[in-house]
Amino acid sequence: MQAILPYIQSRQSEIIALIRRFAECESPSDNPAAVNRFVELVSDAVTPYAKVKTHPGGAFGKHLVCEFQLPGRRKSGQILALGHSDTVWPMGTLRSMPFREAEGRLWGPGVLDMKSGVVFFLFAIQALRDLDIPVPSKVLLQLNSDEEVGSESSRPLTERNAARSKAVLVLEPGTGLTGKLKTARKGVGDFTVTVRGKASHAGVDFPAGASAVLELARQIERIAEFTDLKRGITVNPGVIAGGTRTNVVAAEARVDVDIRVLRLRDAPRLEKKFRSLRPVDRRCKLEVTGGLNRPPMERSEGIVYLFKTAQAIGREIGVELEESLTGGGSDGNFTAALGIPTLDGLGGVGEGAHAANESILVDRIADRTAVLAKLLATL
Ligand SMILES: [Zn+2]
Repeated sequence: MQAILPYIQSRQSEIIALIRRFAECESPSDNPAAVNRFVELVSDAVTPYAKVKTHPGGAFGKHLVCEFQLPGRRKSGQILALGHSDTVWPMGTLRSMPFREAEGRLWGPGVLDMKSGVVFFLFAIQALRDLDIPVPSKVLLQLNSDEEVGSESSRPLTERNAARSKAVLVLEPGTGLTGKLKTARKGVGDFTVTVRGKASHAGVDFPAGASAVLELARQIERIAEFTDLKRGITVNPGVIAGGTRTNVVAAEARVDVDIRVLRLRDAPRLEKKFRSLRPVDRRCKLEVTGGLNRPPMERSEGIVYLFKTAQAIGREIGVELEESLTGGGSDGNFTAALGIPTLDGLGGVGEGAHAANESILVDRIADRTAVLAKLLATL
């Protein structure tokens, strides 16, 4: 086990080269052909030591599941490593944001979220194989093609593989420049509230109109009050639309709202509040659609156990791992909600996910990879 970190350090330039190849194979969620090219690149990389299977992703690229051949004869139970192949970056982003190594970092689209996490995991597997360190469990890696757009098509596959696992390790980036692990994530959902009023000529027949825009403005005030920061509930009316012309009393208006909850039991309460909105102007009608789409990852005992295990492993190699709560969702939300211990944020350490300064710290490549290898050998 002590040999793991030096082994990984000796392969650092290969790790960086693979991150570069992965980042330079652009894979936006909405371009299935591009995502499939990336999936093929990963498949080719693991074929010498894994059984590879792809699953159709509907309108998206294929989902990839790899089962690794690892040292150790008797396998009991399964560990699922979870990641995604898609990025938020459109094709051609490389032209303005090329991959580069500078200032102790690797820069480029998707390096942090989350191509480095995938590469770390593959090198963790290679370390265990080359050093002949027994791994007590069967190990699967699943890469989803639609994580950045809600994981609708991959969710059943994620849940199926997680349900058979004793632990899920999510290769998403850590939090902040210290790379805190994620032991809790908020649940995420959205609602749309549509107001139907009554159109009229704003000059000729004003009183006959029932303005959907005015009604919506009033409703938004109420909706915004559903936020309860103390309980970790946020409600963000993020997008509004409505009306046609200034001289028409608006017949229709709409708001799209993002919601986040820390506790699963807060979701139905919030939903009830949305469904009980009533128009101030009785001539208007309200229609409410939507709900929770990712349940919260609540910090369970099993999650704490995984975190403590990772923390002890970190100490062995001289890094102090901390834990964090994030408002952002991942596929770990689904697996944790099934009651499967899930540890998230095990991937790259850096900043700028979904932003122009997306980058990872080069001097955190080796320890992150070593923690993954040691987790697989321990759990
Ligand atoms: Zn991600």
